[in-house]
Amino acid sequence: MLLQQTRVAQALPYYVRLLARYPNLRSLASSDPAELLKLWQGAGYYARASRMHAAARAIQQKHGGRFPSSVEELERLPGVGPYMARAIASLAFGAPVLALEANGLRVAARLTGDRADPAVAKVRERLAAWLDHELPPEAAGEYNEALMELGETICLPRSPLCGECPIAFACVAFRTLDDPGSLPQRAPRASKRHEVAAIVAVRRGARWLLQKRTEPGLLRGLWEFPGGKPQRGETLVHAARRELAEETGLRVDRLVPVGVVRHAYSHFSVELHLFRAQAPARHLASYPARWLTPEEIRKLPLPRATEKALSLLGVSPPE
Ligand code: SF4
Repeated sequence: MLLQQTRVAQALPYYVRLLARYPNLRSLASSDPAELLKLWQGAGYYARASRMHAAARAIQQKHGGRFPSSVEELERLPGVGPYMARAIASLAFGAPVLALEANGLRVAARLTGDRADPAVAKVRERLAAWLDHELPPEAAGEYNEALMELGETICLPRSPLCGECPIAFACVAFRTLDDPGSLPQRAPRASKRHEVAAIVAVRRGARWLLQKRTEPGLLRGLWEFPGGKPQRGETLVHAARRELAEETGLRVDRLVPVGVVRHAYSHFSVELHLFRAQAPARHLASYPARWLTPEEIRKLPLPRATEKALSLLGVSPPE
């Protein structure tokens, strides 16, 4: 109940405080509602406190102090809705039921590549039916928790961290869309940001220099060519040289323009000016850059823009 409308980090101190004061159901049921409210102070949505108190009393009186385990009984408790009833039943009692909330719907829409709007009841039912079909009856709690955690930590609403996703291999949105974060459907934005950047493909024999994106965001964990945005008044070729040196420590003599990669994400579009260069004699690039053969590149998670750049360079695109 504390977690309704509230993030874990925010709810945690209250959880600890409440548990210290009411270590079991009996003590909560017989507590003074005003004292409970005081302990709740600052957590917001105060109706939850009185519902929790009422639920504790109902369990004491109607269930002899034993926490009910079926979805039907749980749903009859004050303050317990369909989602919470299913979450408790599966997580605490191993009931083979799906607990579905916004995170799960988003993950399901992306995994199945469903472009329809989950705000529509029929679409929600379709996604729920798919998740229900996939649910392992012997591990429903873990399954529900995995869905919640994936949506909370990796399959984020706007910028999913696909490079870190343990089930990217099974995700239709990841395999088929330039921007998996564009699912599920949302109301279109008024205008998109447009970014221009310079990127450099440095070659050493049969190997190319790529680096892993480590900063949080849309492409975290994916591999790309070094580069970045030009500073005010800076030409693209200068930006390419400077970014390469800053990011990898490499200084190259000659940069040859190869072409322009254009790519649109859900909230912005990019125009990447690609340059080619030969590795200098001293070519120890610093982490997280690596010299990679096309075969090695093929095995790495790549953003669509890097795939397009590889095609421009004549390096066979990943399978
Ligand atoms: S691959 Fe990306 S879009 Fe697909 S489930 Fe994982 S994080 Fe979500």
